[in-house]
Amino acid sequence: AETRSASIQKTKTVCTYCGVGCSFEIWTKDRHILKVEPGPGPANGISTCVKGKFGWEYVNSGDRLTTPLIRENGRFREASWDEALDLIAWRLGEIKGQHGPDALAFIASSKATNEEAYLVQKFARQVIGTNNVDNCSRYCQSPATQGLMRTVGYGGDSGTIHDIENARLVITVGSNTAESHPVLATRVKRAHKLGRTQLVVVDIREHELARRADTFLRPRPGTDFVWLSALSRLILDNGWADDAFLQTRVNGLEEFRASVDAFTLAYAEAETGLAAAEIEALARQIVAAGQDKTKGGVCILWAMGVTQQCGGSETSTAISNLLLITGNYGRTGTGAYPLRGHNNVQGASDMGAMPDQVSGYQKVADPLTVQTHEREWGVTLRPERGLDNTQMIDAAIAGNLKALWLTGEEMSLTDANANHLEKGYEALEFMVVQDLYFTHTARYADVVLPAASALEKEGTFTSTERRVQRLYEAMPPLKGTRPDWQIYTAVAERMGQSWGYTHPAEIMAEIARVTPIMAGVSYDRLQGFDSLCWPVAEDGTDTPLLYVDRFNFPDGKARLYPAQYQPRQHTPDAEFDLHLNSGRMLEHFHEGNMTFRVAGLAASVPDTFVEISPELAAERQITNGQWVRLISPNGAVKVQAHITGRVSGHEVYVPMNARHAEDAVNRLTGNNRDTVTNTPAYKDTAVRLEVLPEG
Ligand code: SF4
Repeated sequence: AETRSASIQKTKTVCTYCGVGCSFEIWTKDRHILKVEPGPGPANGISTCVKGKFGWEYVNSGDRLTTPLIRENGRFREASWDEALDLIAWRLGEIKGQHGPDALAFIASSKATNEEAYLVQKFARQVIGTNNVDNCSRYCQSPATQGLMRTVGYGGDSGTIHDIENARLVITVGSNTAESHPVLATRVKRAHKLGRTQLVVVDIREHELARRADTFLRPRPGTDFVWLSALSRLILDNGWADDAFLQTRVNGLEEFRASVDAFTLAYAEAETGLAAAEIEALARQIVAAGQDKTKGGVCILWAMGVTQQCGGSETSTAISNLLLITGNYGRTGTGAYPLRGHNNVQGASDMGAMPDQVSGYQKVADPLTVQTHEREWGVTLRPERGLDNTQMIDAAIAGNLKALWLTGEEMSLTDANANHLEKGYEALEFMVVQDLYFTHTARYADVVLPAASALEKEGTFTSTERRVQRLYEAMPPLKGTRPDWQIYTAVAERMGQSWGYTHPAEIMAEIARVTPIMAGVSYDRLQGFDSLCWPVAEDGTDTPLLYVDRFNFPDGKARLYPAQYQPRQHTPDAEFDLHLNSGRMLEHFHEGNMTFRVAGLAASVPDTFVEISPELAAERQITNGQWVRLISPNGAVKVQAHITGRVSGHEVYVPMNARHAEDAVNRLTGNNRDTVTNTPAYKDTAVRLEVLPEG
């Protein structure tokens, strides 16, 4: 008879929650998940957080979709795969024929694999002939990518998590790292506790890491650009900059110095609310930490508090500028670390699910890129930029976008201004949603396709540290579901392109052929827990630490970029008198579609809520747990009040996960966007609060 241990399968996988990229061995018996053993992956070693360890029940949730659905006469009915795929191919072809390729758009999932994100943009560009393709980095870190592309040339973290541990000073800006990137935060906390690194946290909310920091600075919302520019000005004027680094490795000093001229300490004090002495002390700390070039220096970590603002790209640029003038690039313990949210949001961008770039950040108009893709795909890339996520919705409302195919993204809860978004869905002629569950967004679809989960397929994810890792099939796809890559391949086939992929390894081989930064990536080099950080040379040599010898520009030099301050647009006023902040929490991921389906996580935090300060509670006579209504110019939500010192004064905070779409914080957020990337300025929202009667 078969022994119990013989029937247990151990499979290497990578976490499907945040972008830290923890890897695990997952123990299964048939479809039962028996145990999740962390590591020994490079990101986490033997660590995990509560979601990585206990958050897998969503795979076997009774809510999983197991058959395609087609809307007919306003109701969904079950359909066979062939019928659903035929219908999609026919409708996409028909709409393209009637309105042209740019009447269609595609959104890739940052939860799906690299191979799948690559196929979404290949489908859009090769099968349909449009650049209307994007992914959810439009909602989070596109501004950080922009800031880094402008200054150092690669849109990714400049080193690894291990490199952050080697810093003498870690500064986090607008990042609730302990809850949003828990295992990475654990490594920072350990280095701090051992006395190896100092920790400065800059945020408007006093979260866990803020309470542990040596220095916690609390500027006014949306003013990070100002104190960062004041730091740069002060450092340059006092002769504290790294002159040798500037002379040999950096261009553009003169224009940059002129661009920060207005940012005096007095101005910064008035605009940010930080004391001039605090800013000066931070400048001295940065300079001191970066002085011994044989050791680590300064790492700056940032997230949505910076990027989800009208000036998200400009502030990200200001961070990189500051690191450049102080020589904090190119050695371990230095550099820029925008922390990626989803498990594969880095990868979805790397793979070219973007309206102006194919895989590896190659511009669609670049002649060499056009040539490579002509050879590989047999079509000529169109040179003009397509629509991004936010523009797709605007175009649908304007009647210019007719069809949208959306994979694995609960946009109804995660995009800003949900009511505006749903108007866009209503205006479409045809919408396909591909997901694990019948999501709120799926209600608007014409065809809903049941996708396989990450445990049910093979592929690769790329984490925040540019680390490409393989995941293996721990169990076959749930009956009735299919991996995303097979779905795209089947529709492409029906529309006249015989891709013929039989395994994701073949897709990766193609990615390597057309993507210089992935040239040396292959499944053979990613066996088991092996991983590679891009750029990966053809011989398989990878680059965990960037910019050691050169920056990613033709002359090898970095570029100081004269960025511009974009003040927020919605400061509280008499009608909307509170500033609304939003973000993640430890127990839930993103909108909560997966974590609300994990009993333990759902029980610990059953729904969303609003954090209000003790001062505001006293002012409005609100008790803990009382129901309140938050109202903005865009919508209203009903939530329970949670009184906490994490927020202060007239700041309120609502987590982005919500059990019901009608209470999601993004009913309140608006249409103002980062001026460069169109990333919604979620953090630039003013609301008012009404106390609801008990009962
Ligand atoms: Fe998963 Fe992120 Fe937690 Fe690691 S830190 S286990 S990647 S959610």
